[in-house]
Amino acid sequence: MTAYDPNNIFAKILKGEIPSHKVYEDEHTYAFMDVMPMVDGHCLVIPKQGSRNLLDADPAVLAGVIATVQKVAKAAIKGMGAEGCQIRQFNEAPAGQTVFHLHFHILPLRTGDSVKPHVGGMADNAVLARHAELIRAAL
Ligand code: 5GP
Repeated sequence: MTAYDPNNIFAKILKGEIPSHKVYEDEHTYAFMDVMPMVDGHCLVIPKQGSRNLLDADPAVLAGVIATVQKVAKAAIKGMGAEGCQIRQFNEAPAGQTVFHLHFHILPLRTGDSVKPHVGGMADNAVLARHAELIRAAL
């Protein structure tokens, strides 16, 4: 497998070199809004330790990341007034991965919601900021 590239876009977000709408952070993980949301409230959870994806991740890191996924998923459902959520995670380009730093997608969903295509249009910054605030308030 190709080596982890520490200059990927999510590594830059972790270093504060690229802005993001933060939802949650602890010692080992970071959660923020996806700039091209597939549904309202679409957010991402990443480990601070770099790995390309699930396949090369340290299992101890995975345990921490999935705990944050659970925490943020509950807040995303509550904050966005959803009824459930999808968790998506892609490994390598043929499987749909476009950013090569491990991440889990959280998509809060209500009955009848339609999911937009993966990596579609950019959302308005003010909308992302409002959704991040709703999710943070539900943590
Ligand atoms: P993947 O296809 O690798 O599973 O998903 C990468 C996700 O990152 C996509 O949903 C895409 O919208 C999102 N994304 C790409 N660039 C940025 C960025 O600069 N900031 C944020 N917040 N999300 C990004």
